[in-house]
Amino acid sequence: MKKDLKKLFPIFANNPGLVYLDSAATAQKPQSVIDAELNFYARDYSNIHRGLYPLTKRTNLAYQGAREKVAKFIGAQWGEVIFTSGATMGLNLLAHSLDFKKGDEVIISEAEHHANIVPWQQTPATLRIMPVASDGEVDLKWLAKNITKKTRLVSFAAQSNVFGKVVDIAGVVKIAHKAGALVALDATQLVCHTRIDVKKLGVDFIAFSAHKLYGPTGIGALYMPAKLRDKLRPFLTGGDMIRTVSFEKTEFAFGPQRFEAGTPPIAQAIAFGAAVDFASSIDIDKTGLTKYARKKLAAVPGIKFISPETANGLVAFIIDGVSNFDIAVKVGAKGVCMRAGLHCAEPIHAKLGLDKNGGTLRMSFGAYNDKADVDIAVAAIKQALKELR
Ligand code: PMP
Repeated sequence: MKKDLKKLFPIFANNPGLVYLDSAATAQKPQSVIDAELNFYARDYSNIHRGLYPLTKRTNLAYQGAREKVAKFIGAQWGEVIFTSGATMGLNLLAHSLDFKKGDEVIISEAEHHANIVPWQQTPATLRIMPVASDGEVDLKWLAKNITKKTRLVSFAAQSNVFGKVVDIAGVVKIAHKAGALVALDATQLVCHTRIDVKKLGVDFIAFSAHKLYGPTGIGALYMPAKLRDKLRPFLTGGDMIRTVSFEKTEFAFGPQRFEAGTPPIAQAIAFGAAVDFASSIDIDKTGLTKYARKKLAAVPGIKFISPETANGLVAFIIDGVSNFDIAVKVGAKGVCMRAGLHCAEPIHAKLGLDKNGGTLRMSFGAYNDKADVDIAVAAIKQALKELR
């Protein structure tokens, strides 16, 4: 028999009738993740790296053990995973540490989250924009034609939080590497629904957040291979990221701690480990439920889908003649949590001509969602339409 995954998430027992369809924004937490953080504070809490007593040794083991779990989850080595505060910090770290100079180019796609746009704008590099098709697929022909010797990095969402389709990662990697550019993958949505192996993907950097993957807020991972990691300029500096310090000169540490200055979010890292344990134990693929939702939603009068049929984990749409916000508020009052707006991806909504009228409505799925949730949400949308039209 299939496990009732909802029972593993206390939010549902504490909020009877809750239909949570906003996992692309953030996922709910299973008891095992909550327990991991709570038990660490209650039983094992101390700081890492500093003490010589048994308690701190336990903390060290748990913190580095969490790194090992996250590394294994994406097919990386222990030392190739840097703990960040989330995808946003991972991309900001790269924007700083890659030391861009005037004349360098960074290519991103048209369908990026602001976290993969704004950090590059803060560098001296020129930003160039790779178009996407109406289903969110990246335009490889454009890339092959427009990439130059000046392009130092191609950074793109493996799966956009608006289209939900996994793009041709291998195609981008091939063209970028041939031109001598590095490749960064914003895998924030991808890792929630697809098992990945960084070595097979062949990318140079991967950024994602724990909180969309059933883990805590305030923690995420940035993958980078050791040969790049130990050469890059640290983002934050201070304690724990050094080999030696004098007033004249500081030598930075090698290894992931090079990028983990100060006391890190230890409890969150440990709970992140529990989250990847959880994600590894279930079927994270949501294409079946996504197709079901699309089929059910197709019966809503005036609906227009923005995400393609090949999406995994979300359906984005608009409904003729009504405001997305009005719908989201009305269904929200009935316990159906859905998102309306630009989803931190204003440029792609502008391209689609959807930036002025409340963007899109988005239903997104996590481990706990089932067909019954979709049925309730679709009924609530139809009822809201009756009241609004
Ligand atoms: N990239 C994508 C594709 C996302 O969906 C998100 C979160 N919506 C981010 C980056 C940023 O993640 P965070 O806010 O956790 O740093």
